[in-house]
Amino acid sequence: MPVFDLHSHSTASDGVLSPSALVERATACGVDFLALTDHDELSGLAEAQAQADAAQIHLVRGVEVSVTWHKSTVHIVGLHVDTQNPDLRQGLEKVRSGRRQRAEGMAEALARCGIAGALEGALAHAENKSMVGRTHFARFLVQSGVVKDVKTVFRKYLVPGKPGYVGHEWAPLEEAIGWIRSAGGQAIIAHPGRYNFGREKMRLLLDEFLSLGGAGIEVVTGSHTPDQVPVYADLSVEFGCLASVGSDFHAPGEGARELGRLMSLPERCKPVWSVW
Ligand code: AMP
Ligand code: MN
Ligand code: MN
Ligand code: MN
Repeated sequence: MPVFDLHSHSTASDGVLSPSALVERATACGVDFLALTDHDELSGLAEAQAQADAAQIHLVRGVEVSVTWHKSTVHIVGLHVDTQNPDLRQGLEKVRSGRRQRAEGMAEALARCGIAGALEGALAHAENKSMVGRTHFARFLVQSGVVKDVKTVFRKYLVPGKPGYVGHEWAPLEEAIGWIRSAGGQAIIAHPGRYNFGREKMRLLLDEFLSLGGAGIEVVTGSHTPDQVPVYADLSVEFGCLASVGSDFHAPGEGARELGRLMSLPERCKPVWSVW
C-alpha cells in the first residue's frame, strides 16, 4: 500500500522548508504521494514538481483555501488542481490581498499588550511576504522569548477572544469550492475536528459543502486525536463522501507531526485517491 500524505506546507505559505526541501524530506520519510497544500498560494508547486521529478515520489498539486463560513474560519483543501486555471488563480489572489492589512492590525493589537515590533518580526519569518499570517507572528513571539512555543502563543494570543487575534473575512465557501472544481480538483474539508463546531453545526457544514460540490473530508490528519479518526470516518461513510489523509506538516520539531507518519485510513472509508 503506497503512503499518502495529502496536506503539507512550504515557505510559500507558513511552512519553514522550501518546496524542494519538503519534497526531499517526504521522500526520505517514505511518502509515495505528497500533496503540497500551501495556504491560498500555488507558487511553491513548480519547485516541488521539479524536485519530485528527480526523486521517487508523486507530487499532488494542492492548495488550502481560507474560508469564512457562518462567521467561522474553515479550511478547504483542493487536491489535483490545475495551477494555471484563471478562476483559481484570481480567487486566491483575492484571498491573499487582505493579509497585509490584517497583519498590521495584529501588530497593533500585540503592541497594545506590550509587544513591540511584531509586524517586522513576523515579516522576517515570512519568505512570501504576501502570505504573512498567524504562524509567522507565533514564531516571532517564540524567538523573542515572549512565549515558550508556537502552540502556547496561539493559546494565549492568537485565537478568537485573545488579545492578538484579529478577525478576517476570507473566501465564501461556495466560491472556494467553485475555484477548486473549475481547476479540476477535489475539494476536501481540512481537519474537521479542529473547528469545535459540535455535532449539528458539523452536519450543517457537511450538507452545505457536499451540495455545493465538495468531495470529501480529512479523516486522518495531524490535527485529529486517535479517537477523532473513527468519528470522522463514520461521518464520511454516512454522508457518502471521500476521505483524505494528511499530516498538515509545517516545520521539523514544531508540534509532533512528521510527513507520512499517519494512521491508516479505516477500511470503511472511500479514499480520495480512488477517484484519481
Ligand atoms: P492564518 O491563516 O494566518 O489565520 O494562520 C492559520 C495557521 O495558523 C494554521 O494553518 C496553522 O498553521 C496555524 N495554527 C492555527 N491554530 C493553531 C494552533 N492552535 N496551534 C498551532 N498553530 C496553529
Ligand atoms: Mn498553517
Ligand atoms: Mn488548516
Ligand atoms: Mn494546513
